[in-house]
Amino acid sequence: MATDIARRIVLASRPAGEPAPDNFRLEEFRVPSPGPGELLIRTRWLSLDPYMRGRMSDAPSYMPPVAVGAPMEGGGVGEVIASSHPEYAAGDIVLGRLGWQTHVLSNGAGLRKLDPEAAPPSTALGVLGMPGLTAYIGVTEIGRPKAGETFVVAAASGAVGSMAGQLARIAGARVVGIAGGEKKCRYVKDELGFDDCIDHRAADFAERLRAACPAGIDVYFENVGGKVFEAVFPLLNLHARVPVCGVISQYNATELPPGPNLVPALMRGILTKRITIQGFLVGDHFGKAGEFYKQAGAWLREGRIRYREDVIEGLENAPRGLIGLLRGENFGKALVRVA
Ligand code: NDP
Repeated sequence: MATDIARRIVLASRPAGEPAPDNFRLEEFRVPSPGPGELLIRTRWLSLDPYMRGRMSDAPSYMPPVAVGAPMEGGGVGEVIASSHPEYAAGDIVLGRLGWQTHVLSNGAGLRKLDPEAAPPSTALGVLGMPGLTAYIGVTEIGRPKAGETFVVAAASGAVGSMAGQLARIAGARVVGIAGGEKKCRYVKDELGFDDCIDHRAADFAERLRAACPAGIDVYFENVGGKVFEAVFPLLNLHARVPVCGVISQYNATELPPGPNLVPALMRGILTKRITIQGFLVGDHFGKAGEFYKQAGAWLREGRIRYREDVIEGLENAPRGLIGLLRGENFGKALVRVA
């Protein structure tokens, strides 16, 4: 019976450079039944995140890779459809590491129940989830923008960047976004309320960024690396802070970019301007999640924070969605509607 059939996407092979559709494989399996203490979840939403590119590779990283033949990893929101677990009942909506699959058995470890009345469940994967918390940590713990300072964030229309800039605005900073294309820049200014937004694809991007930051840059929230960082670095002020959240422009790279070695100039600039550059991983800060949910939930209800989702329909299209995310094709938090 078709309803007994579940589907999952496994890692078929490791990509060299940009992932391709044949690095993934769609498989069918029988919908499992929960044993004692287990629950069965039907995935509704799957989150697509840049870190997934790292998990496809077996290069040394902060997390082990997905094994070839194993389901792709990912956060998801689903509905409990059968339960032998004392704390979960059919109909509960849960957040967890569900993976790229339509159905998943769980013993409850790592799950969080969501209240669908409090916020749309998909927001637990974006503005009120891991990307939102990431922005919160980078802004409040490392960037610490003060009123009147200039805060710049790259990938400004995306899940993390849009939140980072809005948090900096709430702190009273002057916020300049960097995004790919006019449409995204217009959204960042008109909808998110940033003071300015510069298109990194423009031929004169570096000059435009300089003009948009006449008092220099006090905080640069780094999501992208590469050419964008090279344009930002000369504009950093004395005692600037740079939370390094991600370097997405490098995730598909197989070799160093050609050109001069910029490390000596970087080190000299860090020294003379006493710049703090600090990498961080949200996983080290989950202790702050409760505080974040409370604060961000209130701001969302008050309309002080906005978000945008880019929804791809169907699990089978998740590979296309991840490949597109790494090319900058998503416009807002990338999600797959699985069911
Ligand atoms: P986004 O929703 O921002 O989507 C990714 C965006 O990155 C694209 O839309 C595109 O935006 C931009 N981009 C992609 N390729 C390039 C490129 N070559 N050059 C410049 N920009 C590019 O994703 P997230 O908000 O989920 O993630 C943003 C960053 O945060 C990533 O680097 C990610 O790895 C990092 N991250 C880090 C975490 C941590 O714990 N440190 C946790 C979560 C995310 P545009 O078209 O505007 O350029």
